[in-house]
Amino acid sequence: MLSIKNKQWKNWSESFLNKPEKILYPRNENEIVKIIKHCNYSGKKMRIIGAGHSFTPLAVTNGILVSLQHLSGIEKVDYEKKRVTIWGGTTLTDLGKSLHKHGLTMENLGDINLQTIAGAVSTGTHGSGIDFGNLSTQITELTLITPQGNKLVISAKENSHLFEAARLSLGLLGVITKVEIKVIKAHKLISISKRSTMNQVLPKLTSLKKSNRHFEFFWFPHTQTIQIKTLNPQREINQQRLKGPSKFNDFFMENGALGLVSEMSRIQPKLSKFASKMIARGVPTGTTVGQSYQMYATPRLVKFNEMEYSIPAEHMASALEDINDVIQRNDFNIHFPIECRYVKADNLWLSPSYKRDTAYIAVHMYKGMVFQPVFQAIEEVFKKYEGRPHWGKLHTLKKDALQKVYPKFNHFLELRKQFDSKNILLNHYLENLF
Ligand SMILES: Cc1cc2nc3c(=O)[nH]c(=O)nc-3n(C[C@H](O)[C@H](O)[C@H](O)COP(=O)(O)OP(=O)(O)OC[C@H]3O[C@@H](n4cnc5c(N)ncnc54)[C@H](O)[C@@H]3O)c2cc1C
Repeated sequence: MLSIKNKQWKNWSESFLNKPEKILYPRNENEIVKIIKHCNYSGKKMRIIGAGHSFTPLAVTNGILVSLQHLSGIEKVDYEKKRVTIWGGTTLTDLGKSLHKHGLTMENLGDINLQTIAGAVSTGTHGSGIDFGNLSTQITELTLITPQGNKLVISAKENSHLFEAARLSLGLLGVITKVEIKVIKAHKLISISKRSTMNQVLPKLTSLKKSNRHFEFFWFPHTQTIQIKTLNPQREINQQRLKGPSKFNDFFMENGALGLVSEMSRIQPKLSKFASKMIARGVPTGTTVGQSYQMYATPRLVKFNEMEYSIPAEHMASALEDINDVIQRNDFNIHFPIECRYVKADNLWLSPSYKRDTAYIAVHMYKGMVFQPVFQAIEEVFKKYEGRPHWGKLHTLKKDALQKVYPKFNHFLELRKQFDSKNILLNHYLENLF
């Protein structure tokens, strides 16, 4: 097994520097059993790293960091049941390509695909579409190696009492080595981007979210402008004239132009309002068609910090109006568009969508710009709507607040304690939460 000492490591947003004693790259499940048993016996701290795309220091440790980089790829395809077993270290990019070769695809994805499957499900990564749960809900079975070194297969049939906890568990119950996910037949999606305004879009949210397979929108602070993005099966809108392509525009606006105005705003924060207006004016409009796995994600080359909360779906419009008030009242220098998505309710204990259809609202601030006062003030709006934070994104909630908004939080605390009585999987950040 590859072992690297004193290797420093940064997360995607470069907000945390991780200096583990060692990074270990096991090549099979037996090696993971040995590592975790050793840590449990000696009381050594250990965390598991995916692709490092969380904004929160979930995987930061000065003990042992375990990467499943060498445990990647598809293990088994069951065409009849439409189930695929994947090693935990597989990136969503590789997974999309491999599934496509089998004529299959995932039912939904988020807006990047660089995460590992185990990392993505461990924080409840989601896309948009009110008929689709987050990625953790796509799991039909998983294999977990517990701190005692036991290998557990967990599904709705086997060890079913753990199924709703383990599918979204932040690496707190052990190492997920494999997941089986439900898949669907590969298909094409048509992506449409339109420019609109708050006054036009907010009253129509219910119909927009119901009439599109995937619907999301971006609101540009200090403006009335909204960009609507929809993804629908190609056959349903075959008759429409296709304008486009817009992928180049998307890429340019979301990276080149955004990068330029962001640097300008970092150097002179007062220019943020102007920056937001400029990017709002350049909202790409048009239509693109492609294989579904290629349509969800866009490259994110401009670095930022992000806070994202889930609130009950029906409060999307009023929460946005409140956020607008907060920004205006405080005269905040914010120019990154605010991303708004919908996710279906589920039963997962730590899921922000636990038993409620969800509106997700994400606030971004360019890397290098002061984000704390903006996030803190907007977080108060989310609290008003019983907001639940995205585990991979910035927030200030601690255990007592989390207990109030996650109905199954105490159940998870008990389970975690049973699994990890020596707290080897808790780092400093997680100790304040769990
Ligand atoms: C640019 C950008 C865009 C993003 N877009 C979205 C989006 O559209 N939707 C969304 O919901 N989120 C989004 N995110 C957040 C991201 O999807 C999550 O933070 C995700 O968890 C990152 O996956 P990762 O592989 O990088 O995992 P990491 O960040 O490395 O780890 C995440 C958690 O998973 C645990 N973990 C990793 N591997 C294992 C394993 N094998 N067994 C047990 N636990 C494990 C880690 O210990 C940690 O607790 C985005 C992040 C960035 C930087």
